[in-house]
Order: sequence, then structure tokens, then C-alpha cells
Amino acid sequence: MLSERIRAVTESIREATARAGRPDGSVRLLAVTKSHPADTVHEALDNGLAVLGENRVQEAVAKFEPLRAARERHPAFELHLIGHLQSNKAAKVPGLFDWVQSVDSIALAEALSRRCEQAGVTIDVLVQFNSSGEQTKSGYADPEALVDDAAAIASLGSLRLRGVMTIGPFTDDTARIASAFARTRALYNRIASALPDAPIDTLSMGMSDDFAIAIAEGSTLVRIGSALFGARS
Ligand SMILES: *Cc1c(COP(=O)(O)O)cnc(C)c1O
Repeated sequence: MLSERIRAVTESIREATARAGRPDGSVRLLAVTKSHPADTVHEALDNGLAVLGENRVQEAVAKFEPLRAARERHPAFELHLIGHLQSNKAAKVPGLFDWVQSVDSIALAEALSRRCEQAGVTIDVLVQFNSSGEQTKSGYADPEALVDDAAAIASLGSLRLRGVMTIGPFTDDTARIASAFARTRALYNRIASALPDAPIDTLSMGMSDDFAIAIAEGSTLVRIGSALFGARS
């Protein structure tokens, strides 16, 4: 049952947070509903999961446009885009996504800011770091480029830069995973001290299989799909 899985995941997050010597409640849970139907979203909302993630714009439009009413009933509702976004799809973001975690270029950030300004909204964004070096993953591979661009992104009128997102390496080697997360946290700290006026408070890392490692390395937001909703088809 979903409620039991939520309890188990929440408890594991709490244990990992305590083990890391971090304050209770310092890690947010984002529930990833990608590939699951609107019914799953309703069930998630009914069970108190208000912060949701999708990785494809088209799928999110189809699933969440009809959910506007449900969304208004949940004041804490937030929808995060966690997958790659092409600049030419930026117009779909305002009014649908509250956060875009996958900003990976100035061109995309500018397109997003322009579209948000036209729509009269401000959204929260993270810059994505490709910490694993895997070619199939998007995000900045070069930390220096990420730090330089973060300053420019933070100055865009309709975006609030909140921090950094990464996807850990696809491996069983926990030391390698931990090292990728530690490098991401170091980048996050650099940005936070370089941009003291930006509201930097979010380090998004950790998924179903590696969130305990991510919490040990400083994650403030874990993105959990299969551990909550079961395997995806
Ligand atoms: C699918 C996905 C997740 C969730 O993955 P699980 O292993 O099912 O928890 C988290 N982050 C991103 C970017 C994803 O695409």
C-alpha cells in the first residue's frame, strides 16, 4: 500500500538524516510520478505527498492540466520538472511547473525567464551537474562553466536560483556514488558563497537506490519514484 511505502521511505530518510548528524526535517521528499497515471497522483496527494516530480513535459501536460482543481485544494502542491528541457518547450513551463531542476545552459535559462515574465510568474530553478560523467546524462559536465553560468542565471528576473541538482552514477560502487555527491555538494557550496544574495538552499540528489548516501553527503531534497510507487513499466 502506498501509505505503508511512504511511511517506510520517510522513516529511512529520517534515519539517514540522523546518522549524518543533521537536523530532523532538513531533507525534503519529492515523489516522482513519471510513467504513472493520474490516479497515482490523486492517491499521492490524498496521502500527503504534495511535492511531485515529472521528467517529460508532454507527459506532465497530459497528466497535470486536468488536475488544476486538485492542485488548488493542496496549498503545498509543487510540481518539479526533473528531466531534460529543450528551450523550444520553455513556453509550456509557466503555470505547469513550479520548479525546473534541469537547467543546463544559459540559453535555456533565458528562454525560461522570458516565458515566465510573459506569464507573470516567477519559478524556482536548479542547475544540473553531470557528476557521473556519463554521456547519456544531461547537465553541466564542467564545474567551472556551471559556476560561471549560475551567476548569470541568478540575475535573470523571473527565475529564482535555489541550488544544484545531480543524478548519481549508475553503479553499485557506493564509494563512487558518494564521491559524485560530495563533488556536487562542493559545487553547491561554491555557488552559495559566490552568490550571497541568491536564495540558495536546495541540493537535489538521491533517488530510490542511493538516497541514504546522498543524505550523508548533504542532500536537502531526495527524488523518489520506484520506492514509493513500484517499478515503472
Ligand atoms: C526517475 C527519476 C527519479 C526517480 O528514480 P527512482 O529510482 O525510481 O527513485 C529521480 N530523479 C530523476 C531525474 C529521474 O528521472
